[in-house]
Amino acid sequence: MSYKILVTTRSFGSTSSKPWDVLNQAGCEIVKADLSQKMTEVRLIELLHGVDGAIIGVVPMTAHVMEHASSLKVVSMHGVGVNHIDLTVAAQRGIVIANCPGTNDQSVADLTIGLMISIARDIPSGDKTMRGGGWGAHAGIELWKKTLGLVGLGRIGRGVAKRGLGFEMKILAYDPYVQAENLEEGVSMVDFDEVFKEADFVSLHATLSEETRHMIGAAQLQAMKPTAYLINTSRGALVDEDALYAALIEKQIAGAALDVYNEEPPKDSPLLQLENLVVTPHIGAHTRESIERMGVMAAENVLRTLQGGQPHHRVA
Ligand code: NAD
Repeated sequence: MSYKILVTTRSFGSTSSKPWDVLNQAGCEIVKADLSQKMTEVRLIELLHGVDGAIIGVVPMTAHVMEHASSLKVVSMHGVGVNHIDLTVAAQRGIVIANCPGTNDQSVADLTIGLMISIARDIPSGDKTMRGGGWGAHAGIELWKKTLGLVGLGRIGRGVAKRGLGFEMKILAYDPYVQAENLEEGVSMVDFDEVFKEADFVSLHATLSEETRHMIGAAQLQAMKPTAYLINTSRGALVDEDALYAALIEKQIAGAALDVYNEEPPKDSPLLQLENLVVTPHIGAHTRESIERMGVMAAENVLRTLQGGQPHHRVA
């Protein structure tokens, strides 16, 4: 039986042919969305006409879209975060939602450490200074033996903790859903407030939910040391960006490094004017290895579901 599959993410199969091979070998009819045009709900509904499975990235899979996608049986997230998918409506309509945990955590953990070093040593301004013909820099700080506070100790949080231990960092983690047993030596579970009070680097790795939305606001930023840095490679909405802007401009904290934003791409955000901020355009999972692993799993998730089995990881 041939299935019609819609792909709405640019990065699917962009670093290797393996994800496409999975779909082609199963004889799928593949529809690639033209991503040079804005993806509105109306366009998405048109594209989903007669489609059995969709492999998506950040395109919102709203209630309205799913209510108009009568043939859709499975939505496969090319990544992990599913906060842009209406899981309730998917469940009501019997649409399986799958994602790809474990395929991109090493890449995001690498970037997190990269951002930590980048903001602690102000690498972007050194680059900018030299390109402008200049030379010289102000003193940064080491990661060595500093305290790293993690909010969220899932796959990525643990990957960051392991890397932090390599820098002989003291690791404090807050995660209400993780038991204090079976932790790597050198990682301690602490209260939410203690992370902000004690850490030299606070790094966010919690899932975005109604419970965690804006969990980092003025109170948490004020509790941080004035020499401390905030790193966010999880989801932008974990942080109240107005409060972060105030904390950075008033130097309540030393700096921040962000890969994710309340709005992506951020439009006219005053944050982008600040010198004590390092930014990357949501590239946490953007490595050749991760894109290949995600693509293969996303394609297999679609096929396994359509062929009557279970995806590797089912969210709803
Ligand atoms: P995961 O599910 O393995 O871990 C998430 C952790 O958050 C869990 O341990 C959970 O218990 C914890 N958590 C839930 N509620 C919490 C709360 N109130 N306080 C503290 N912790 C809480 O997921 P993961 O693979 O480690 O991914 C973590 C986040 O990173 C996801 O939200 C995902 O969206 C994001 N992510 C970003 C990129 C990127 O490109 N920057 C790529 C992949 C994933």
